[in-house]
Amino acid sequence: MFEVRRLNKSFDQQQWVLDDIDLKLLRGKTTVILGPSGSGKSTLLRCLNLLEEVDSGAIWFDGREITKEGPRGHLLRREISMVFQHYELFPHLSVLENLMIAPVKVLGVAREQALEQAMELLTKVRIREKADAYPEQLSGGQQQRVAIARALMMNPKAILFDEPTSALDPEMVKEVLDVMVELAGSGITCVVVTHELGFARRAADRVVLMEGGRIVEESAKEHFFSGQASERTQRFLQQMS
Ligand code: ATP
Ligand code: MG
Repeated sequence: MFEVRRLNKSFDQQQWVLDDIDLKLLRGKTTVILGPSGSGKSTLLRCLNLLEEVDSGAIWFDGREITKEGPRGHLLRREISMVFQHYELFPHLSVLENLMIAPVKVLGVAREQALEQAMELLTKVRIREKADAYPEQLSGGQQQRVAIARALMMNPKAILFDEPTSALDPEMVKEVLDVMVELAGSGITCVVVTHELGFARRAADRVVLMEGGRIVEESAKEHFFSGQASERTQRFLQQMS
């Protein structure tokens, strides 16, 4: 689904934040990206949906070279949804309106149809009873589940998560991860930056470890956690546990 070839990215022309990244992300699979702070995980994710310009290299998505799309790049973000650490719901809109606004205004979906889809997705993220509430009336975990439902309203081909549980109180992490595990099993292409090794163990197909702007390991989950992975990976896993 995604193919990244020799991607380089810097912010100050001095140091590569992404240094010759080669990566394939498979359709319908869940890839978890791990790595220490500052290793380039968020930047890579932002490059995948053209929120960042790349210095050189190419990214292919669904058979087309999106790094060549220029001003049409914004259309891509209808196909690739992103969920951030801070859920950024519209505070003046109800949960339901938060879900419906983009499909109705941007895609021109009929309100009735958007409403039906919104209720379905709210059921899926287990928050149907809060449809008429406003974001400030919800807990962090509930807001993040609404943000996930909102991302799904665009029927994206892929969904990118950047540390979706890092801003949550510990007791809310599980309810969000449970929803993400289900999503990962549903056949949509997921790319998840997280420090939650438990999530990677449960839901990942592939695991990528980044360090200093490079990919230091990329393997099937079973291999990554098997004790057969590289020494660098073993050290990282030890530090994390
Ligand atoms: P974390 O786990 O802390 O979120 P990360 O792996 O997501 O870290 P990035 O946010 O991708 O790391 O940052 C990688 C490097 O790029 C860091 O050294 C950071 O300071 C730098 N960087 C990121 N965004 C910018 C920017 N807009 N301008 C300048 N430097 C940036
Ligand atoms: Mg980050």
